[in-house]
Amino acid sequence: MPRLGVHLGLGPDDLWIKRDDLFGLGGGGNKARKLERTMAQAMQWGADVVITSGAPQSNHARLTAAAGARLGLPVVLVLEGVDPDTESGNLLLDRMLGAHLVWAGEVDGEGLEAAVQAEADAAASTGRKAGIIPFGGSNAVGAGAYEEAGRELLHQMPTLDRVVVAVGSGGTMAGLVSALGPDRVTGVDTGAVPDAVERVLGLWQALDPSAGGTATDLVVRDDLVGRGYGVLSDDIREAMQLFARTEGVILDPVYTGRAGAGLISGVREGTITAGERTVFLHSGGLPGLFGHADVSPWRDVPPRD
Ligand SMILES: *Cc1c(COP(=O)(O)O)cnc(C)c1O
Repeated sequence: MPRLGVHLGLGPDDLWIKRDDLFGLGGGGNKARKLERTMAQAMQWGADVVITSGAPQSNHARLTAAAGARLGLPVVLVLEGVDPDTESGNLLLDRMLGAHLVWAGEVDGEGLEAAVQAEADAAASTGRKAGIIPFGGSNAVGAGAYEEAGRELLHQMPTLDRVVVAVGSGGTMAGLVSALGPDRVTGVDTGAVPDAVERVLGLWQALDPSAGGTATDLVVRDDLVGRGYGVLSDDIREAMQLFARTEGVILDPVYTGRAGAGLISGVREGTITAGERTVFLHSGGLPGLFGHADVSPWRDVPPRD
């Protein structure tokens, strides 16, 4: 991303982008890599229906619906909140992809898990075998897909110094840390879960017990959570504008916009410097832009130096 790099004061060869938003399945995004493995596991186990959970605009839910369609497996999505009057963004695609939606009401993480289990029990009572794909696809199996992605990235760019990535359920960062080591991965917490660092750590330890990783090894920025998951801030708007206007790259307001804001802050603070090779991992999420209440009409953020 030479124009963005130079705009931020880096060299033209310092800033790169890994396009995990461009996978061929269901609109793309990081969850496709995890689902390749978690869906395979569910099928091996003999599942004839797959259940997963998420926020109403969950990219993971949308891609699970797409993977199920591709594999001929019915998908049940257990979503937080209540059935909205209008369905936009990921929700519209969930419907188009043929998923069955179940609304769990205003619940916390545990409540959502309980609602998923209730769906699985209901399926079992009618003689079906329900495979449960974890929240965000983040168990050790799903995170292992990002260990492979980390190796792929290193193969593509052996001189890589750092990758910047959004953190939600933690599997993406954990896999990258397992492949690249903690110093080369900067996570930007999006506020999707209250315990992001603990989740990344747990998954990293599961993938690579011999590393002896601890929480203090991990580089996770939590200053972009702002007023909470999904709440748009001027930092995020500025990142979305800059990526779009210098590179023609579209970020989403929930995940990649925050990661972009974390990248920009890192350069301004001097933790990301010229002469290093920094890769921004674009993890997808574009449909979420069209399901977000505050982005339209677009309000410009004045330029900063
Ligand atoms: C889920 C998601 C992330 C975060 O990935 P985790 O593995 O859940 O931490 C980042 N970006 C987008 C677009 C996502 O949908």
